[in-house]
Formats: sequence, C-alpha cells, structure tokens
Amino acid sequence: SWTNSKNTDLVERAQAVIPMGMYGHQSVLLLPDDYPQFFRRAKGVHLWDVDGNRYLDFLCGYGPNLFGYGDPEIDDAYIAQLREGDTMTGPGEVMVELAEAMVGLIAHADWAMFCKNGTDATTMALMIARNHTGRNTVVLARGAYHGAAPWCTPLKKGVAPGDRANQVFYDYNDVESLEAAVREAGDDLAAIFASPIKHDTFVDQELPDPAYARRARELCDERGALLIVDDVRAGFRLARDSSWSLVGVKPDLSSWGKAIANGHPISALLGADICRMAAATIYATGSYWFSAAPMAAALKTLARIRDTDYLERTQALGRRLREGLDESAARHGLALRQTGPAELPLIMVDDDPTLAKGYFWTQALMKRGVYFHPWHNMFICAAMTEADIDFAVEAADEAFKLLKAAGPLEAPAKLGFMNQMLDH
Ligand code: PMP
Repeated sequence: SWTNSKNTDLVERAQAVIPMGMYGHQSVLLLPDDYPQFFRRAKGVHLWDVDGNRYLDFLCGYGPNLFGYGDPEIDDAYIAQLREGDTMTGPGEVMVELAEAMVGLIAHADWAMFCKNGTDATTMALMIARNHTGRNTVVLARGAYHGAAPWCTPLKKGVAPGDRANQVFYDYNDVESLEAAVREAGDDLAAIFASPIKHDTFVDQELPDPAYARRARELCDERGALLIVDDVRAGFRLARDSSWSLVGVKPDLSSWGKAIANGHPISALLGADICRMAAATIYATGSYWFSAAPMAAALKTLARIRDTDYLERTQALGRRLREGLDESAARHGLALRQTGPAELPLIMVDDDPTLAKGYFWTQALMKRGVYFHPWHNMFICAAMTEADIDFAVEAADEAFKLLKAAGPLEAPAKLGFMNQMLDH
C-alpha cells in the first residue's frame, strides 16, 4: 500500500538547504497533496519515488522522455561518447553529425546551433531576430511559455520593467489581435513568436488555426521580420518535422529541446539561410553547450524518430487513452475536457472552476500508480503499450468512482498562492 514517509523526511531536510525545498516547474507545491517530490528511479514508462511507489508516468519528465527512461540503445550511445570525451576544450565531431541530422529532418532549417535548455534556444532566437532586423519589438502570444529568463518568465519576481520592454502581445489563433499587435510594433517589428499549438497551463489547449499561422508568416514577410516557432515542448511529439509543417507554414527560426535526446541535456536552435549571418554574429555560448555525450544521444534519438513508427503508435495510444477516459467518465455521470492532440493531452475535469475535482481525481490516480497532472499538458511515451493505457483507464475509473462518492469539495487552497505569483 502507498506510503510516503521517506519523501516527507526528505522534503523536511530539503526545506533547510533548498529554497522552499524545491523550486521551478518540478516543485510539487501546486500539485495535489501527497504528490511525491523526490524520486529514486526511472525505467521505461515508470517512475519510482523515494518510498518505492511505482507510477506509470504521463509527464515524461515534462517532455524529455520520448522513447522510455533509460532506453538502452540511446544510453549506450551516450555512455560510449562519455567514455571517449564529453565536455572538452572544443566540440566533438558528433556536433557536425547532429547538425546535419537536424537540418536533414527539419524542412525549414539550413543550420543548427546547440545549447542546454529550451530557454537558451528561445533567447537566442530573440537575439538573432533583433540582430537580423536591427529592430527591437517582438510580438508574442499572451500566456504562452517560452522559458525562465527575465524576458519570458511567467512570474514577476526579480524582473525589471526594462527586461520586458519591446514586447507586444496577441491572443493565440486570433488573426485580428495578431494584426493589431503587429500594427502596434510598427516599423520596429523584429519577430513574431508562436507556440506550435496553444499549450498554456490551466486552460484548454488549441490546435493552430492554419489561417492564423499563415497570417503570421505573411506579416513577417511583409515587414522583413522573423517568424519563430517554439517547438521546445511539442517538437517531434506531433511530427517528424517542425510542428507547423502540419499547417504548411515554415518558420525562420525554431527552438527545440526536451525530447530531442530522450532526456539527455541538450537543446537546439534551427534556422533558415536568411538569418545565418545574424546567428553567426550574436554571442551565444555556455560551458556545457558543446558536451559531446548528449549530442551522441540526440543523434540516436533522431535516427529512431526518422526510422520508426513511434509517432503513429503514440497517436494511437493517445486516442485509446482519450476514448477510454471519456467512456469511463460518462459511466460515472462525469465529463472531461480533453484538449489538444491526443499524443500531447491536457485532461481536466469539466465543470470544475476551482480545480477541486481535478485535484481529487489526479490525486486518487497517483495513489493508484498513475502519474497525471491536473493543469499541465501531458505526454504519451513511445514505450507505452496498450496494456499501460488500459491500466491508466482502470485506475481512472476507480478514481471517478471515489470522486462521485466524495460529494462537494473545497477549492484547493494552494491555488490561491499561485494566483498571487502569476501575472494574470
Ligand atoms: N518553450 C516551451 C514551449 C517550453 O515548454 C519550455 C519548457 N517547459 C521552454 C520553452 C523552456 O525550456 P527549458 O525549461 O528547458 O529552459
């Protein structure tokens, strides 16, 4: 049966030596009570917390786990390169091979730069657009996440007004608001940023309206600005090319991270020839950016992306989950709002303005060995099987039964804290 005494002890020790015990997107502060903060092990589609409880993990490390934790082939490539040379005085030959592989896979890209985190890539995209155009203003979708640097963090703490200067916001998928933002930027427009899909937290996901994506491309072309698609989270989850290949729009720049090396630390910025010189003349670097071992892992991951049916399989598994959950919810007289692509699902309980039902339901799932998130999109892992999906649906069914029996629930108090911290 489920216990958490070791986690409780660790959280207490952490509070003495780590700010708040944990910070950032992997803090469980805003998750339902009892979500484990610390883990011991991850293998395939499963996580084990420090108390030894096992979870079928639908967060996939918040995106990096595409082919299963500890994939033997990818990790062998990583280890072989690690033994040969990793963080050296210059990059390995694998950097060129990886750039060739990325450019070969992503139709809009003529060159690649590598870095560590998604934020590195989105920040470089911003700098390259400004360098290319000699202008400052960037147009961004309200509520979209592009990283944790002062220019883009969703929290206000520690950010100076100047860090957020030269930004104009539009509503995702809303052509009129995009046009208004571009008008406001006037002759200072350097770039339009877009997420490949609307995958903001707490609100329903939206697929891109092709008319919106095409208009963003046109507006950039008319004004000599650059179109940036931030594929850090959705990259290779929806397509073997840029996610906007699905709507027939080529960005000038795209940022990548998370899944590209199956969890090994590397991110990438890809670009078209038009801004090659601008990319070459910004100062962009980092002590670990050119480490060879994560590049070897990325090369193996890309080969798997190119050569297998992982995408079609994760899509089919996502549909199986979506249908199974909908049927189960209906049996209990409940409804879910399952939005976005089935392979990148956001799953929220309908008619739940305070998220009380969602918190109760995901907590019950967690205690049955299924790790769900109440307000962030999740990920289908290509190593999952139909049996894994069925296990999740059965656990969800039991959790719905408990939710139905629980009657009225109080709003989760911790969400008040979040509303204080967030911009909105
Ligand atoms: N862009 C998007 C769309 C993301 O989802 C993320 C990470 N969640 C980032 C940028 C930032 O990536 P990182 O946390 O690796 O800096």
